Amino acid sequence: MSERILIVEDNKTLAKLISKKIEHALEMEVDVAYTLAEAKLFLARYKYFITLLDINLPDAPDGEVVDYALSKKNHVIVLSANIDKDFRNKMLKKDIIDYINKGGVGDINYIIQSIERLRKNQQHKVLVVDDSIVFRKQMQNMLENLFFQVITVAHGEEAIGMLQAKPDISLVLTDYNMPVMNGLELTYEIRQTYSKDELCILALSGSEDTEVSALFLKHGANDYIKKPFSKEEFSCRVNNSIEALENIQMIMNYANRDYLTGLYNRRYFFKEINEYVEDIKESGEKFAIAMIDIDHFKNVNDTYGHDIGDKVIVTLADILRSSTSPKDVVARFGGEEFCIVLKNINRYSAQDILARIHSEVENYSFQVDKEQFITFTISIGAVLFNDDETLEEAINEADMMLYKAKNEGRNRLIFHGN
Ligand code: GH3
Ligand code: MG
Ligand code: MG
Repeated sequence: MSERILIVEDNKTLAKLISKKIEHALEMEVDVAYTLAEAKLFLARYKYFITLLDINLPDAPDGEVVDYALSKKNHVIVLSANIDKDFRNKMLKKDIIDYINKGGVGDINYIIQSIERLRKNQQHKVLVVDDSIVFRKQMQNMLENLFFQVITVAHGEEAIGMLQAKPDISLVLTDYNMPVMNGLELTYEIRQTYSKDELCILALSGSEDTEVSALFLKHGANDYIKKPFSKEEFSCRVNNSIEALENIQMIMNYANRDYLTGLYNRRYFFKEINEYVEDIKESGEKFAIAMIDIDHFKNVNDTYGHDIGDKVIVTLADILRSSTSPKDVVARFGGEEFCIVLKNINRYSAQDILARIHSEVENYSFQVDKEQFITFTISIGAVLFNDDETLEEAINEADMMLYKAKNEGRNRLIFHGN
C-alpha cells in the first residue's frame, strides 16, 4: 500500500499508539514527528494521504504546523485536547478535514474510521448542482478535501445530461432554487431512472419554508441540509449518505453474486435476462446463450485438492469475464458450470467469441507449485436465441448442445445448427 500518513504529536506515547493502530488496521505506512521542525523534514520528503496534526508542539504552540501543512497542499486532520468552542470554530474555518479531540480509545477508533472513509471516498464521483458559482466552488473544495471526485453543473438540465454521460456518479448534491429546473424537479426526475440503491441525493436549501425539506425527502432525496450549515455537518451528512449507499450495494452483491468468483449467480442471471428479453421484444435484437462446463473437473479435485479446484474455477471465471463485453452477462450456475449471454450479436460473431474462449482455456497453463503446471479444458453448448421460443427453451437447447459436446469427447464447442 503506497498511501502514507504523517502524525505530528509531541506526546510520544499517544503518537506511537495512534501510529500502531493505523498501521495495523489500515496497513498504511506511518511517519511520526514530534516537532514542527521534524514535520517539515517529513513533508519535504514524502507525499502524504493524510496528516494528523497536534496544534500544541514545543516549537509551535499555536497551530503553526496546520498552516504550514496546508500551505504545502496537504490534507489535514487536527488532533487537539482543546475543547474551547471558539478555538475549535477558528480552526474549522481553515481548509482542514476535521477537528478531532484526542484522548480516549474511542477517539483513536474515530480517527481510523475517518481515514478509512476518506480512502473509500476516492472511488466516488459526486455531482454538484448549483446556479451560484461561489457556492459551487465552495462545495467542490469541501468535497475534494474529503477525497471525492467532483463534477459541477449550473442547473438541473445540465445535471440530467451529466448523469447520462457518467452513469457511475454516486451522489448528487442539489440546490433548491435554480433556473430552468429547480432542485425538487431534478430530484423527482433523477428518481425516475435511478433508485436509492444506485445513487444518493442530498438537497441543500436556505428556504425558511419547512415544507421544502419534507418535499425533497418525499421526492426521493436521501437527506436535506439547511443553509447555512457547518463544515462538520456537511461532511457527516455526505459521508453518511455515501456509507448507506455502499452498505446497500454490499448487501446486493451478497445476494446477486457468487462468493468464489464474483460472477452473477443463477438467481440474478434469470432476473436480469428475463428483463433483457422483455426489453428487446420489439427490436428483434439477437443474442447468444452458451452453457460452459469444465471437463473431468472431478479429476482436478481428486488429484490436486479442492483448493486448486477452486483456483481453476476462478481462473475460468476471469477468462469468461475478460473475453466478453461489460454489457454481456456471465454467471456461475453452480459447481463448475457457467452460463453466458452475449447480447446484441449475430451467429457468426458469437461463434467467434466462444471459439476464442475455448482455445484460450485450452492454451492456459495453471501453476500448481514451483515445478508443476496443469491445464484444463471446457465443453461449450450454444444457441442463438430466436423470437419464437422462451428463454427456458433456449437454455435447454444450449444445455443439450453441451451434453452433445460431452458425449462426442469433450473439449469442444457445439453451436446449435452446426
Ligand atoms: P464432466 O467432464 O462430465 O463434466 O466431468 P466432471 O468431473 O467435470 O463433472 P462432475 O459433475 O462429475 O464433477 C464435478 C465436480 O465438481 C464434483 C464436485 O465435487 C466439484 N465441485 C463442485 N463445486 C465445486 C467448487 O466450488 N469447488 C471445487 N473445488 N469443486 C467443486
Ligand atoms: Mg502537544
Ligand atoms: Mg464438468
